[in-house]
Amino acid sequence: MRDETLCLHAGYTPGNTEPRVVPIVQSTTYTYDTTADVAAVFDEPTQSLIYSRFANPTVMAIEAKIAELEGGVGAMCTTSGQAASLLSILNICQAGDSIVASAQIYGGTINLLSYTFKKLGIECIFVDPDASEEEICAAIKPNTKAVFGETIANPALSVLDIEKFANAAHKNNIPLIVDNTFATPVLCKPFDFGADIVIHSTSKYMDGHAVQVGGVIVDSGKFDWTNGKFPEFTEPDESYHGICYTETYGKAAYIIKARMQLMRDFGCYPAAHSAFLLNLGLETLAVRMKQYCENALTVAKYFQASDKIDSVSYPGLEGDKYYELAKKYLKGASGVISIVIKGGKENAIKFMDSLKLASNEVHVADIRTCVLHPAGETHRQLTEEQLAAAGINPGLVRFSVGLENVEDIIADVEQALAQI
Ligand SMILES: *Cc1c(COP(=O)(O)O)cnc(C)c1O
Repeated sequence: MRDETLCLHAGYTPGNTEPRVVPIVQSTTYTYDTTADVAAVFDEPTQSLIYSRFANPTVMAIEAKIAELEGGVGAMCTTSGQAASLLSILNICQAGDSIVASAQIYGGTINLLSYTFKKLGIECIFVDPDASEEEICAAIKPNTKAVFGETIANPALSVLDIEKFANAAHKNNIPLIVDNTFATPVLCKPFDFGADIVIHSTSKYMDGHAVQVGGVIVDSGKFDWTNGKFPEFTEPDESYHGICYTETYGKAAYIIKARMQLMRDFGCYPAAHSAFLLNLGLETLAVRMKQYCENALTVAKYFQASDKIDSVSYPGLEGDKYYELAKKYLKGASGVISIVIKGGKENAIKFMDSLKLASNEVHVADIRTCVLHPAGETHRQLTEEQLAAAGINPGLVRFSVGLENVEDIIADVEQALAQI
């Protein structure tokens, strides 16, 4: 089945007289006839439900849908995109290990990798996304357990050369983890280009309506965890009566280990109701993504033609630094555009405050057009020197194009630019 169909039908097939829509199973627990039945569930926890800290039927239906959309063997939802990044790496790395990451990734992930992971004894080595394969390989150390990047980086809007990063990782027998939030599986399926693990903040396009914060980890099932670098996968897990993940679960070893060890211990599993809301967004994801891309390209061209704008970054624009990579990896460049307004911070703020339809909010990839001023909002604690190092121009505005009629979006932009 193709994406439009999977978005509607994957993960849940009702039987005779069963509900048409995935039911909300808002229950913490599940009952058993006998004590022996409960004991059997602990011996083989993947076969039935134990407790909603790590598995729930509503959430699992959505996990199955996302796994199918990405072409993976399994998925696990989390309470946020941050929790997905955290668990995706902790499932592979421990104190004394390191990870190599593209320097152009989401700010929250940079904080997680540079500061919190450091406290846990995991080092992060950042590389330029435009580095050569040799340079990426040179950054990988004997204790490096994974490589990490973002398909379309938030907010830099660089496009990851997934094959280059996958080759560098695989030459060193380690997996590539890709944050596919901005592209979604509708615009890019990173597993087709060699990625091993995909994560998402489902708070963005997947939900789309700004009604739930969530994340997901998807396992391609293709990485060979038995290559000698990952004893946690091949040796008995003391915390689970000596289970060997690769031996018992084969291709699904990574995602089952993440659930059985990490979700069991950290408990950042979404509520059934959140998964239900996420599913409503997923049902229309394929049709929405096409329209976001179409609207954004029109708005990006409008910005490009305006004499009030210094520069426009949108990988779907011919001549953009990442246009060729976008053509190779993406079916569309999503709805997010970065613009630098002439006249720096003052004019950027004037433009944003003059917008009437687009809302000023700390969000992106919503169904409604929204804007954010990184220098004055999310990155306001940085000095001017730090802003420059992070590639954030004081005049930079992140413009997230929604699904309003594009003529109305442009009319709003036009009147706001006229205020400058
Ligand atoms: C928002 C975002 C995250 C973090 O997700 P939350 O759901 O806000 O925790 C991670 N990666 C990218 C690319 C994002 O845009």
